[in-house]
Amino acid sequence: MGRALEPLVALTGAGVSAESGVPTFRGPDGLWERRRPEELANQRAFARHPLLVWRFYAWRRSLVARCSPNAAHLTLADIEDRVGDFTLITQNVDGLHGAAGNLQVIELHGSLWRLRCTRCLERWEDRRVPFPELPPRCPSCGGLARPDVVWFGESLEQRILDRAMSSAARARIMLVVGTSAVVHPAAQLPLIAKNAGAWIVEINPEETPVSAYADEVIRGPAAQVLPEWWAHNQGL
Ligand code: NAD
Ligand code: ZN
Repeated sequence: MGRALEPLVALTGAGVSAESGVPTFRGPDGLWERRRPEELANQRAFARHPLLVWRFYAWRRSLVARCSPNAAHLTLADIEDRVGDFTLITQNVDGLHGAAGNLQVIELHGSLWRLRCTRCLERWEDRRVPFPELPPRCPSCGGLARPDVVWFGESLEQRILDRAMSSAARARIMLVVGTSAVVHPAAQLPLIAKNAGAWIVEINPEETPVSAYADEVIRGPAAQVLPEWWAHNQGL
C-alpha cells in the first residue's frame, strides 16, 4: 500500500467493544447492581469495600470472557499487519484488541487481565475466570492485590501517556473510534493530533466533543463502518 495514510493512529474507547457485547459505561447497560462505575472503580471504594469492588471486577471479567473480538477489532488487527507506521491506543481494559491479533497496543487504562500489588510495585497476569472470591496476595510482599486498571481519580502511567501523546503529535491520520471523548487525558489525544495537522476521522453513532473539529465524521456502529472505511482507504 502507499504511504498516504502513515503515520496512522487509532484511538479506541468502549464503543469499539459494544458490538462484542461489552457494555459501555455511559450506555444503558453500564450499571452493575444499580451502581455507577465511578462509585466502584476508585481507590476509596476499594479501601472501604474491597470485596464489593472485587465482585464488580469478577463480574466484568466473566462478562468479557464470553465476548469475542468483532469486525472493528479485526480490522484494526489487519491495519497493524499492513500499515508500517501504525499505533493503536485504547482506553479499553477488556483485552479484545490483543485477542483480535494486535501485538502493539498502548493500553492507557490498564487491563482487566492483570493484577497489581497495593503495597509494592509488583504486577502480574491473572486470567482466571471466575476470579477467586477474595483478592489474592502479592507473590513478593503479601500485600493485597487489585486490578491493574486506572481508577477514577488516578493518574495514568506517565511512560504510557508520553508514548500516546508523541504518537498523536506525529499522526497524519487519526481514527477516533467509539469514545465519548470526555475522560481526560485520553480525550486530549485527538486534539493534539488535530493541532499538529492530522486528518481526524471520527467513528461513532453519536455526537461527541471530537465531532466539532473532526475532518470526517462517520455516524454508525464501528463493526460495520470501520471495515468499510478501511476497504475504501487501504489502497491509498
Ligand atoms: P464511554 O462509555 O464513555 O463512551 C462510549 C462511546 O461509544 C459513546 O460515545 C458511544 O456513542 C459510542 N458507541 C456506542 N456504541 C458504539 C458502536 N457500536 N460503535 C462505535 N461507537 C459506539 O467510553 P470511553 O470513551 O471509552 O470512556 C469510558 C471509560 O470507561 C474508559 O476509560 C474505559 O477505560 C472504561 N471502559 C472500558 C470498557 C472496555 O474495556 N470495553 C467498557 C466500559 C468502560
Ligand atoms: Zn507486593
